[in-house]
Amino acid sequence: MTNAAPAPASAPRTRLATVWLDGCSGCHMSLLDIDERILELARHCDFVYGPLVDSKLVPENIDVTLVEGAVSSDHDWHLVSELRKKSKLLIALGDCAVTGNVPSMRNVMPLSSIYRKVYRDTAAIPGECPKDGVPKLLKTVLPVNQVVSVDLYLPGCPPSADTLFQVLSDVLASREPNPLLLTRFGA
Ligand code: SF4
Repeated sequence: MTNAAPAPASAPRTRLATVWLDGCSGCHMSLLDIDERILELARHCDFVYGPLVDSKLVPENIDVTLVEGAVSSDHDWHLVSELRKKSKLLIALGDCAVTGNVPSMRNVMPLSSIYRKVYRDTAAIPGECPKDGVPKLLKTVLPVNQVVSVDLYLPGCPPSADTLFQVLSDVLASREPNPLLLTRFGA
């Protein structure tokens, strides 16, 4: 277990956001796997948006955003664009965010055949894709950097808790992280 010291206690508090786009939530599970070290992070930063907190709107003035998952729908596109606008540093967290990974496996099929498979061929009650209440899928799944600029890539499926803690500790302490010394694609 890595116990890298984050920022000195006197440093200003960092506003941290996380977002779960088209991913399996495994990257957020890895963040939770830092266990009691999350208290160390909480001494230095506020979680201002994401699945770990109950915020409905993306706040202004975010220092760091961790993006899990690829961009698969119009909802993902708008959300990651808004987060980019409001964040100083945006980190692509995990292989789905970095390359498209598992969600992008659907890119070899036309959307129409995916809808047909899901809503007709394999559905318990065959029907059509609902017109309202579901995000519109993009024709192809995109890695985050094809929609917004990315400041730091953190590969892995998922990146380990130690890697996440080390990188966040470096960011909080204004040290330049070097994720590729800590993790790799598919790790
Ligand atoms: Fe899940 Fe792996 Fe994608 Fe993270 S990178 S969301 S763990 S499939």
